[in-house]
Amino acid sequence: MLLTITLTGTPEAPATDLGYLLFKNPANRHEKELSCGVAHLFYPEASAERCTVALLLDIDPIALVRGRAGGGESGPLAQYVNDRPYVASSLLSVALGQLFGTAMSGRSKDRPELAAQPLPLLATLAVLPCRGGEGVLRRLFEPLGYAVTATRHTLDECFPEWGESAYFSVELSGTVRLSELLTHLYVLIPVLDDEKHYWVGDDEVEKLLRRGEGWLSSHPQREMIAARYLKHQRSLTRDALSRLLEEAGDEQAGETQAAEEEVLEERISLNSNRLAAVVAALQASGARRVLDLGCGEGRLMRALLAEKQFEEILGMDVSCRALEKAKERLRLDRLPPRQQQRVQLIQGSLMYRDIRLAGYDAAAVVEVIEHLESARLAAFTRVLFEFARPDTVVLTTPNSEYNVKWPTLPAGKMRHTDHRFEWTRAEFQAWSGEVAERYGYHVNFQPVGEEDAEVGAATQLGVFERG
Ligand code: SAH
Repeated sequence: MLLTITLTGTPEAPATDLGYLLFKNPANRHEKELSCGVAHLFYPEASAERCTVALLLDIDPIALVRGRAGGGESGPLAQYVNDRPYVASSLLSVALGQLFGTAMSGRSKDRPELAAQPLPLLATLAVLPCRGGEGVLRRLFEPLGYAVTATRHTLDECFPEWGESAYFSVELSGTVRLSELLTHLYVLIPVLDDEKHYWVGDDEVEKLLRRGEGWLSSHPQREMIAARYLKHQRSLTRDALSRLLEEAGDEQAGETQAAEEEVLEERISLNSNRLAAVVAALQASGARRVLDLGCGEGRLMRALLAEKQFEEILGMDVSCRALEKAKERLRLDRLPPRQQQRVQLIQGSLMYRDIRLAGYDAAAVVEVIEHLESARLAAFTRVLFEFARPDTVVLTTPNSEYNVKWPTLPAGKMRHTDHRFEWTRAEFQAWSGEVAERYGYHVNFQPVGEEDAEVGAATQLGVFERG
């Protein structure tokens, strides 16, 4: 089984940078033992113009059978006589995960800007089983922006009357991030094969959502992808789809909510007060590497960029549209390289543990939690306080008591239709106190905006410090 990935070089980046992105030196041959065989990795070509990495899987069919009881549905012969050693299947996904795990997550030590950038890439799969034929292959890859070339193989050249097989040699070319290409292959190869070499349980739903983040919820074939990926287990598929749809909803809601809130709050320039308060809290913490979670259109990021103290600023949002706007607002394309290197925008959901968020000094979460379902708030808290675990968290949310002061807001209404809840000061402080205690932080509160004697200020801000 052979997969190759080719990068075409550009004047700015030689193609051999592929080696940095994959953490595998083009000059060497690499080998990795897998439970089902050996993965060989090498570069058949490596020049500034073109660089190709090849992943050759040498599957041991006996190792696949070992530990499996009975002959399965197709009888004992199928255990020994089958296509598994020769075709791209879930075994290749395992190899991709093991060899290119970091590249798949989009991180790169030596070439971070290249990892974040769409690149001219070509993937070839020597033999890919496509259940459902070329139509399914195209419906899976074309919406993701790939040009697909497929050559179908006959079952046996000596017996043309036997007809066509389900096997294709496939080329996928497109301008995409390397991490995207790898995750697309990781998820869609087993989907095309419609078969997995292992038992599929709840973990597999998590894996699908994590690897599908940013593209699966808006893929026109998401139902088929989820059903096949989860081996047609109805309850798992239902679970995955409902979570995907929620994510798609979050994404659409995020596009308008920031703008609408801005109009309502403009009168007292609450927005700028809030940003100033958050920047001040981050400065006071001494943080150098900061996260802006639910960064929206990048207002806070722009303010942070103006402060030299912040050496690295990573903004994350679930909404691609918001991220596009953030990119414009920050003029990312036009910043001098030194400034550009300080900022990074990534798409992701705060509902899922995300390794890209680990190791930062501080995180800002500005007017975001009230957009999360109350039932899912606990997932967010773990993602932030247990896994990302920055030293400082600066979190803001509306103070619902203050709503009586908005002339345009009908009594009992929330400030925005997408707000799932708005808390009183007591509610916010109770929640924060519990979170701080559970995860080993202590928390202080401050009002943002003019403070009313009775109802407090419009925004409430909590600063969580670790230890
Ligand atoms: N912090 C920004 C935006 C606030 S609006 C500011 O103060 O201007 C809330 C933002 O949270 C939106 O951009 C929305 O897309 C984002 N968001 C909502 N749910 C999210 C989730 N699950 N993960 C990441 N971001 C989310």
